[in-house]
Amino acid sequence: MPSKTLKSNPSDVRASNIRAVFRLLFPSGQMSRAELGRQVGLSRMAISEVVAEMVGSHLLREMGMDRRSGRGKRSVMLAVDSEGWRIVSIDLTRRFVIRGALTDLCGRIVDRTEIPCDSVGDVLPETVCDLCERLLAKTDKPILGVGVAVPGIVDDDGMVIRAVNLGWTNVPLKERLEERFHIPAVVCNDTNMALLGECTFGQCSANSMFMSVDEGVGAAVCVNGEIVMGRSCAAGEIGHVVVDPKGPKCVCGKRGCLEALLSAPRLRKRIEAEPETRTAILAEAGQRLGSALSMSVSLLDLSDISVFGPPEIVGEAFIGAMREELESEISADYRQTPLLHRCQQGDDLILRGQAVAVVRLLIDRIHNDAVADSSGGSDQQSASQQTAHSQKGGRPHHEPTDE
Ligand SMILES: [Zn+2]
Repeated sequence: MPSKTLKSNPSDVRASNIRAVFRLLFPSGQMSRAELGRQVGLSRMAISEVVAEMVGSHLLREMGMDRRSGRGKRSVMLAVDSEGWRIVSIDLTRRFVIRGALTDLCGRIVDRTEIPCDSVGDVLPETVCDLCERLLAKTDKPILGVGVAVPGIVDDDGMVIRAVNLGWTNVPLKERLEERFHIPAVVCNDTNMALLGECTFGQCSANSMFMSVDEGVGAAVCVNGEIVMGRSCAAGEIGHVVVDPKGPKCVCGKRGCLEALLSAPRLRKRIEAEPETRTAILAEAGQRLGSALSMSVSLLDLSDISVFGPPEIVGEAFIGAMREELESEISADYRQTPLLHRCQQGDDLILRGQAVAVVRLLIDRIHNDAVADSSGGSDQQSASQQTAHSQKGGRPHHEPTDE
């Protein structure tokens, strides 16, 4: 058994084995039982048991024989069972539309729906529930959970503390969704979900920053594979930190906030006024951002920064100047300057990142339910069965429409 601590109970060990195996394969890895056993530190018999349970609950599936080597005994490869479950993912970050998708267990979008809104203030928790209902009606597969990405501060209990653009204060969105649909819900900050998507499907590593330079300016940070939340779940909310006390007045009342200097609307306005200095304006903005971030990047020893923004703003001039500034401010012989790149993931980054957050919830549920089982004693039902929500009488499954 992998756990050396004397006090760990069997259910605990079982749950952590399941999580370890799932993390090795998610989203698109393939390994044989023997390889998984080696990586997790389990005997042949123990890994077979774990895999059997995961295949039984449709977390894994057998992929056929390993074709990598022509010699010796070939073994059956295992991968995440993408078709076993569906996830509802909703993105509230757009103006005038709420976007929703059904994804498979690997975070791939298989269907989508949206609800147009006349203005951002029209988005109510009920509208989110309505979109969720429409998405649930599109599949007859079991639903793992629903995730909603919110442009605002969201606490660990899925309470939207504040979302300025939506006009929401203390909205218990997770609770509302769970009450109405009886499936687990996960509500998260949108930038954190973009970072999770970038770490899973894009170029960011376990120590990285996602920097959004759009209508607003904000960041998300991941350290040792965990997204940093902070004391008031507001880590990364750097848009209204003053970087130039003599700078332009900001909507928040202060002067020279990062957002007052760098938001896409602000830069567009300046470029409109002086089109011939476009490159200089964007380079100055990139330099300013590089300078503003150099301390945090060094403080946390990050290895990647992904910058997201409209292509006409976050382009060569902006990124080049930002890179140069970071290099000149933080270079040292004991540290490499972090890799800086423009976010290459498309429009669905937040939807897919949010789906990944729901998948992570499943793994935690398996763990928590196992602990509950061991203390409660009797129930042998698997965690995945407990969280399953089958859409009885639902319409036939729609064929994938994406990718
Ligand atoms: Zn401000």
